[in-house]
Amino acid sequence: MGEQRSTDQVVVVGAGLAGAQCVGALRRGGLQGPITLLGDEPHAPYDRPPLSKDVLLGKADSTTLDVDYRRLGVELLTGRRATGLEPGVLHTDAGPLPYGSLVIATGAAPTALPGADGAHLLRTLDDALALRARLRPGSRIVLVGAGWIGAETATAARELGCEVTVVEAGPAPLPGALPRAVGGAMTAWYEEAGVVLHCGARVAAVGPGEVLLGDGTRLAADEVVVGIGARPATGWLAGSAVALDAGGAILVDERLRTSLPGVWAAGDCVSYPSARAGTRLAVQHWDHALQSGDAVAAALLGADTPYDPVPYFWSEQFGRMVQYAGRHTEGDELLWRGAPGDPAWSVLWLRGGELRALLTVDRPRDLVQGRKLLERSAVLDPARAADPAVPLKSALAG
Ligand code: FAD
Repeated sequence: MGEQRSTDQVVVVGAGLAGAQCVGALRRGGLQGPITLLGDEPHAPYDRPPLSKDVLLGKADSTTLDVDYRRLGVELLTGRRATGLEPGVLHTDAGPLPYGSLVIATGAAPTALPGADGAHLLRTLDDALALRARLRPGSRIVLVGAGWIGAETATAARELGCEVTVVEAGPAPLPGALPRAVGGAMTAWYEEAGVVLHCGARVAAVGPGEVLLGDGTRLAADEVVVGIGARPATGWLAGSAVALDAGGAILVDERLRTSLPGVWAAGDCVSYPSARAGTRLAVQHWDHALQSGDAVAAALLGADTPYDPVPYFWSEQFGRMVQYAGRHTEGDELLWRGAPGDPAWSVLWLRGGELRALLTVDRPRDLVQGRKLLERSAVLDPARAADPAVPLKSALAG
């Protein structure tokens, strides 16, 4: 065994997907010593993607991960919050927990809208159940933010018969994630679904029963839902020796080690150096939580493999499966496979012919093939790659 002595106490803080994945992988990797997994929610670790989909729609009440902690020999402490860290000791609201090795997987917390105290946020199972109880036919729902969460919540709310308005500060949906031309192609989805979308609109105030926009427009609102992003849940590390970036993400190295020896981190709360991207990445998506949960366990057990997967995520919105892999940056060449009005289309980002990222709408084959091409930094023939009839794997240059 490498960095971890087999009898040391391992503590994993944050009982979400990354934390749960990590403890399972530690046992699969042969760790014999005691493991404690703690989290501040009252629930055992559960999956979040269904919260804005099946849970809101009433098709699921629980999304608990299928992990038997007793059989794994993992002590699971729910409802326990970490409050501080010093070398060898994690402080919690129920007393100190000494550790030999520590994994931080405290995820992210949704950003609140100042002055919108009564608004819903959507991060936890309890948030989703509370919002679901308010999504009644005819209810007027104003959603702030046309991001991934906003689009999925709008989809569910419409399906439940609500009147839905989405307010987005950017010029088109998903302004933080996609260029305007691509996000703009999604505005038609809102219209088709009967959702009123205000882009380039800022919320000036949220009052009882209404949302006031910067241009004076008043939107009647029985419920307001804010989906404007999430920040790493790392405030509790203030004053510790764990270095954070300006956005609060934990700065880990390529083996997911923090600046404090014996402390690793994974999931939504980290920023890791990606050789593939040529920069640090802070990824807040399910696949990264899963993969970094595995990787942090392997690193703790002594593996010497850098963590640098091709980033991937999906979103289900307005009856469509949207998937994205890789990472594009400004200046990459944008190539359409199909037109935005088509029932299914993809866009590719190329740099010097090399595939850097792709987004697919109901074209899962493009995604599967594109992901493999991204892994091998494949160079494409743009003319063939732009033809949706040509399988992406057959669009290689040369
Ligand atoms: P989390 O799941 O946030 O788990 C961290 C846990 O740590 C939480 O339980 C938190 O309460 C706890 N914690 C925080 N601070 C402390 C503390 N001080 N002490 C103790 N415990 C603490 N991704 C996709 O790719 N596709 C999707 O369709 C998709 N849908 C999503 C829908 C919703 C509604 C949400 C919220 C997220 C969605 N995601 C999706 C993102 C994905 O779920 C997250 O990236 C993933 O859950 C991150 O896992 P994590 O373990 O890093 O963090």
